[in-house]
Amino acid sequence: MSAKNPSVLDNYPDYALNIGIEVHVQLTTNSKIFCESPNEQTKDPNLCICNVCAGYPGVLPVLNKKVVDYAILAALGTNSTINPLCSFARKHYFYPDLPKGYQTTQGADPICQEGYIPIRLEDGSIKNIRLIRIHMEEDAGKNIHAQGTNESFVDLNRAGTPLLEIVSYPDIESTYEAKAYLKALHHIVTYLGICSGNMEEGAFRADTNISVRKKDSTTFGTRCELKNINSFKFIGDAIEYEIERQIDLLESGEKVHQETRLWDTNQKISKVMRSKEEAADYRYFSDPDLPLLKIDEAWIARIKEMLPELPHAKFVRFTTDIGLSPYEAEILIDNKDLADYFEKAHALTKSRHLINWILRDLMGYLKEHKLELADCKLSPELMAELINLIDKGTINNAAAKEVFEIVMQTGQSPAIIVKEKGLEQIGSTDELEAIVKQLVANNPAQVEQYKSGKDKMFGFFVGMAMKETKGKGNPQIIQELLKKYLS
Ligand SMILES: [Zn+2]
Repeated sequence: MSAKNPSVLDNYPDYALNIGIEVHVQLTTNSKIFCESPNEQTKDPNLCICNVCAGYPGVLPVLNKKVVDYAILAALGTNSTINPLCSFARKHYFYPDLPKGYQTTQGADPICQEGYIPIRLEDGSIKNIRLIRIHMEEDAGKNIHAQGTNESFVDLNRAGTPLLEIVSYPDIESTYEAKAYLKALHHIVTYLGICSGNMEEGAFRADTNISVRKKDSTTFGTRCELKNINSFKFIGDAIEYEIERQIDLLESGEKVHQETRLWDTNQKISKVMRSKEEAADYRYFSDPDLPLLKIDEAWIARIKEMLPELPHAKFVRFTTDIGLSPYEAEILIDNKDLADYFEKAHALTKSRHLINWILRDLMGYLKEHKLELADCKLSPELMAELINLIDKGTINNAAAKEVFEIVMQTGQSPAIIVKEKGLEQIGSTDELEAIVKQLVANNPAQVEQYKSGKDKMFGFFVGMAMKETKGKGNPQIIQELLKKYLS
């Protein structure tokens, strides 16, 4: 489809790259994972908290069933195996925004494992990125360091927000694949309706584990983890930087140290944050306050009924059944509302013009006027009506653009606008033939010039004919008639 995206790895043909990604997805349930506090973070600090999420001693967590529903949806959307029995564990660490002193998460037996996510490579082929596991856990609160003072504050609104952690195998072998994987996963969780997908607000955050090795080596190199980068572009930049940094170290005979690094978006470099803790440091153990969680076939079957068409399936259907190009399908998949818009209009017209009008005119107009699709007055039904008027030859392209602008502003029916403004195309050959004959008769000098080889004069006659019909003539018929009478 597109040319290969250049990567710094191209400069080091002896080296291979392995990337595994952990993504934290914030779930959009109404309440938090272990209490009834509202799952909202935008309110003033510490307004959405209770004794449970504030970590008071002696309180008991109660699992939010909706979180399990969402986790099952994620499992079904990523081809994962759901464990019939799973449990929660405590992961211990101290941080002021975690008053309990441990995070409630899942340990050895997560809700699901061994899934995969298909991604499209640059040559259009499909590669499955395997998932190790998906587990449920709670988010921590936030420390706020007041600017210009020595004070810090703790806001616990985020504490207890339900998260899914989705962990891939190190199957990702290029910067391009890393970005494609993240986009595919982002599409899946937003299509499933379990996550807002808002990266800037931290609703979808990726930790990227990067290691390089000599191609002939059978073991992975030492990995570094890049924490919480909040845009696909920055993740790409950071991986490119990290590939070069690690290869430089190895080439100069040094070692890569296992550590967590932060990406500095201004300086475009990664910096050490801390050396990586081993899993044992967290002293995981089974949470005695939460019972084992049993998920039976009936529960899974109930969730399966809620499963929407997934982005990959939609892409395949758009390209093979409907005949869109991969490029066109990709743009629609990227924006679920736009894909839905296309489908509603496509149910009413199978015209090839439809996708062009959506991608070119509709998208262009929305961008220019800074509008959202939801605010658009040209409904899919009206769009289909407009396209049908073009296809039937009722209006030509110039008139269609005029009608389009009016519908965008008023939401009126295109057919009514065409009638009221008298924009119907003059498609009758008799009427146009009379006009063309007249033009040829009235402009003998120009006819001579055309006949003596001045091809440009053809445009002069087309222009005159369009003017004569006040822009409503069918350009194709006019051209055919002119060819006949000028020869
Ligand atoms: Zn609470």
